[in-house]
Amino acid sequence: MAYFCKDCSYRGKKSGQAGECPACGSFNLAKRRDIGREEAPPPRWRVVLVLLLWGILGTLVLSKIIE
Ligand SMILES: [Zn+2]
Repeated sequence: MAYFCKDCSYRGKKSGQAGECPACGSFNLAKRRDIGREEAPPPRWRVVLVLLLWGILGTLVLSKIIE
């Protein structure tokens, strides 16, 4: 994630302590993803794992309700 100032066109990975532009002090900052370094989608096994865990949780909750 990178910051982009709309006022002075500052670009950098850091913002000020209060989220302001370190170059001009403006709060007109936009967060941008690094160009050319897009985040890869989560790997498939993680999606499967999350679904599996939710399935187990759901089954446990259902069995509690039924009892
Ligand atoms: Zn600025």
